[in-house]
Amino acid sequence: MQGSPLIACPECDLLQREPALQQGGAAHCARCGILLFRSTPGDTLDRALAWTLGAIALYLIANSLPIAALEVRGQHTETTLLGAVMALRQQGMWPVATLVFVTTILAPGVELAAMAYMLLPLHWNRVPRHLGAAFRVAPMAHEWGLVDVFMLGIAVSLIKLGDLATVIPGLALWSFGGLIFMLTAAGSAFDSRDLWNRVKA
Ligand SMILES: [Zn+2]
Repeated sequence: MQGSPLIACPECDLLQREPALQQGGAAHCARCGILLFRSTPGDTLDRALAWTLGAIALYLIANSLPIAALEVRGQHTETTLLGAVMALRQQGMWPVATLVFVTTILAPGVELAAMAYMLLPLHWNRVPRHLGAAFRVAPMAHEWGLVDVFMLGIAVSLIKLGDLATVIPGLALWSFGGLIFMLTAAGSAFDSRDLWNRVKA
C-alpha cells in the first residue's frame, strides 16, 4: 500500500496505511481490530445534506405549530413547544424550562445550523471559513439534543391526560417524530473522512 494516506487508529493510535476498499467494505485496525472506516457508495456529503435540509424544514414546523391541543369541558387550549417552556418558567419551574429549551430547541437547532454551515458550501466546492469550529460544535450539540426523550415524555403525559381531557395531537408532534428520524439519518450519512477528503481535494 505504498503511497496511500496514513491513518491513526482512534483507539490504540497505531499509524497505518489506508487499505483500498471494495464497495461496502470496511477497514479495521491491524492491531486492535476496531473499525477505522467504511467504504460508502455514492456521495455521503450530499446525502447528509439532503437529510439535514429535510430536518431543518421539520424543525421549523415542529417549533412554530402547536404540539398538542387540549379540550376540557369545552375549553380549548393549545401550545407550541416554546409556549410550554414559557409556561414552565412562569410557574417558577425554570430549571425544567431551561432543560427543555436547551435539549429540544437550542441543541438540535445548533446541530442543524452547524451541519448546514459545513455541507452547503461544500456542495458547491467551497470550504466554509469556520469549518473546524462547526465540525467540533455539531457532535457536541448532538450530545445535548434529547428530542427523543422529550417526545416519549410528551406521549406518556398525553396518554395520561386522555382520561381528563380530549387530547388532539398537533402537527408539530408528528414533525418532532420525523425530526428524530431525519437527525439520525443525517448523522449516520455524515462521513467525516469524506468531509476532510473533499476539503483536501
Ligand atoms: Zn487500533
